[in-house]
Amino acid sequence: MKAAILWFRRDLRLTDNPALQAALKQSPKLIPVYIHAPLEEAPWTPGAASNWWLHHSLSSLDNDLRKRGSRLVIERGESLATLLNIAQHIDDPHLFWNQLPEPACQQRDHQIRQQLTNVGITCHECNTNRLMGDPQMMNLSGNPYRVFTPFWRATLKRGLSDRRLSPAPKSLPSLPIKGHTLSIKDLQLLPKIPWDKGFRDGWKPGEQGALKQFKHFINNSIESYTDRRDRPDQEGTSRLSPHLHFGEISPMQILRGIEARLEGPISNQDRVGVSDYLRQLGWREFAIYLLEFFPETDQRPFNQQFNNFQWLQGDQSKEWLTLWQQGMTGIPIVDAGMRELWHTGWMHNRVRMIVASLLTKNMGIHWLEGARWFWKTLLDADCPNNTLGWQWSAGCGADAAPYFRIFNPVHQGKRFDPRGDYLRRWIPELAQLSDKHLNAPWEAGHAELAKAGIHLGKEYPKPIVDLTHSRKIALLRWTEFKSTRKDKPHESD
Ligand code: FAD
Repeated sequence: MKAAILWFRRDLRLTDNPALQAALKQSPKLIPVYIHAPLEEAPWTPGAASNWWLHHSLSSLDNDLRKRGSRLVIERGESLATLLNIAQHIDDPHLFWNQLPEPACQQRDHQIRQQLTNVGITCHECNTNRLMGDPQMMNLSGNPYRVFTPFWRATLKRGLSDRRLSPAPKSLPSLPIKGHTLSIKDLQLLPKIPWDKGFRDGWKPGEQGALKQFKHFINNSIESYTDRRDRPDQEGTSRLSPHLHFGEISPMQILRGIEARLEGPISNQDRVGVSDYLRQLGWREFAIYLLEFFPETDQRPFNQQFNNFQWLQGDQSKEWLTLWQQGMTGIPIVDAGMRELWHTGWMHNRVRMIVASLLTKNMGIHWLEGARWFWKTLLDADCPNNTLGWQWSAGCGADAAPYFRIFNPVHQGKRFDPRGDYLRRWIPELAQLSDKHLNAPWEAGHAELAKAGIHLGKEYPKPIVDLTHSRKIALLRWTEFKSTRKDKPHESD
């Protein structure tokens, strides 16, 4: 029997799926397979929130395949052995997959390609994940770009990918193999204790969910993106991040979708919102690009001088980390963000920056501790974006916010949530407090607190760090670090 094997990973869609199209061209018979092998992604094995999404996304893909006459073969175990096992039933087997950006997956795929090629299995690797026309682009000195703005300028100048979108096939060949396969339920991806209500209320994983969310965004919010993208109290961003991470929609579909709505190429438009939105997708491209050229940075700081930075350790750091994770730091905008994350599996980008700054700078806790918590709890947990975001916030990444620039969460809260709607939603115990003191309840007098029904330390915690003092300590830590470094960095490091 001749057949093509299509190995689904995080490209869980039928539209604009180059591996699917190539497989259909190669053979009239198709075996779509998903192999559950989380340990192959170590150290970034998917967390509980990601697993929740994966369960529903696989179900949605299987449904879409079944509607077209096929279905998803579900397997668990080592990817190489599983693929070999399937291929042994096929004459002249061809295997198709779309590339993944994570270093562990790239390494695994490289080994699989070598080993399968050695035994006569032809592997076809497609690239679907990028907007960049030239993902290998270098700067004028022949090195990878390290700063976002010149990277993005050069990317746009060279031109984005001109790949044409392929529609989802109307029908698919039926599965040519028989025998037992696992069910999605067998993978045990859903939580045993049902803590996922907030996820179920807010998200619809799968290709149809992604397309619906995208449509909603371009019809309602893209033109006000510039004004509202920094406002956690408003629905001003696309909320496509988990859909993009699981490949339920491709960045090319987003690009073409925007062009279609604007009735012309984006380069001809100066509509407010569009170029800023594209720029955020550019940050995603930058994160993938950096990890491809510097794969060790998913665990080590991009700025290697930070290898010896003294992060806080011991009982104090453990206690603070727990309170930060629980949304009980006593600093309202931080607690609101951490509670939003726990309940919905998502946090607004502005608030991600604020909570990360407090953890790494005011508390002096290692950025990896924050990255690991986000990894467990985010539905969009994504190795390139999470690495970039945390290292940017901690000041140790490529093109990072310098260590000595420390966000003031009170000012940030007042500026980006001016009416306090976001805070009141996530910290109901502060709801009765005046706008003036909402972001800094410790500054309110006893009478005002009592009127609002709050005793600090009882209904809502006292701040675990004094913002002014902890800022000073962070700056001292920085000064000391600079003085011990042999290379004596400039302030702009
Ligand atoms: P929109 O504003 O609508 O942007 C559209 C898309 O562009 C996003 O879906 C995302 O794919 C990309 N994007 C937007 N901002 C960024 C950015 N700063 N960096 C990289 N890509 C971006 N994003 C993740 O997808 N997964 C993560 O694990 C993740 N961890 C982060 C950790 C920290 C500490 C920080 C500061 C940021 C992190 N981000 C992460 C980036 C960003 O916060 C999210 O991509 C964004 O909030 C998702 O919401 P959205 O889809 O509505 O974004």
